[in-house]
Amino acid sequence: MRLRKVHGAKDLIAKHREYIIDNLDNEFIDLKSLFKNDNPIQLEIGMGKGQFIYTLAENNKDINYIGVERFDSVIVRALEKVIDNPLPNLMLIRTDATDLSVIFDHHLIDRIYLNFSDPWPKDRHAKRRLTNKRFLSMYEKLLIKGKELHFKTDNKPLFDYSVDEVLNYPMDMKYVNYDLHNSDYEGNIMTEFEERFSKLGNKINKLTATFKEDNNG
Ligand code: SAH
Repeated sequence: MRLRKVHGAKDLIAKHREYIIDNLDNEFIDLKSLFKNDNPIQLEIGMGKGQFIYTLAENNKDINYIGVERFDSVIVRALEKVIDNPLPNLMLIRTDATDLSVIFDHHLIDRIYLNFSDPWPKDRHAKRRLTNKRFLSMYEKLLIKGKELHFKTDNKPLFDYSVDEVLNYPMDMKYVNYDLHNSDYEGNIMTEFEERFSKLGNKINKLTATFKEDNNG
C-alpha cells in the first residue's frame, strides 16, 4: 500500500491507531501499557521518515521503539513502512517534542536518539534546538537514571553548540566523534539525512552522554 499524496496523511494516520498515536491534545500516554511486555523503551525524537528507527526495531526485537515526529506529512512515510510490514516493537507518535515530559511518566525511557535535528542557526532561535538545555532537562526527566542520549548531525555549528550544552548541563560525555563514517565505530545505522549529507562529503558527528547521577531532574 502506497500513499503518494501527502494530503491523505491525516486520513491514513486516523485509520491506523494500532501503529500511530496522533497526540493532538497533548494527552497522557501510558508507556507501561503501550507495548505488551516489559522490554526497554527507546525513543527517537524528530525521526523524520523513520528509516533509522524502523531498522533498529527490525534488528532488535527485544527492545521497544517509539518514533516521535511533529509533521503529518513526514511521519506518514514512516507509517507506510509500518503498514507494509508491521513490527510489534515499534510505535509512532505524532506530537511536538516540547511536551514529552507532560505526555509520559518520568524515568521510563532507556535511551533517546536525536538524529540530524533542525539546526536553528540564528542565535535568537537557539532555544528551539533539541540539544538546548531546556530540552536536556526534559530528557533527564524522561530517561531512567544513567541511561544515554545519542546525537548525530553533519551540522558542525549545531554539534559544537550541543557539546557545550551537554558539558554545561552538567552531563557526562561518554563518546564524541567528529567523523563517524571514517572511524572504527561499528554498527552505525544510517538515517535518511545521514545518507543524503554524507554523499555530499559532509562529515558525520556523533556524541553519547548521560546525566550526572547527583543532578536530580
Ligand atoms: N531524523 C531524521 C530526520 C531529520 S530532520 C533523519 O536523520 O533523517 C529533523 C526532523 O525533526 C524533521 O522531520 C522535523 O519535523 C522533526 N522535528 C523537529 N523539531 C521537532 C519537535 N520539536 N518535535 C517533533 N519533531 C521535530
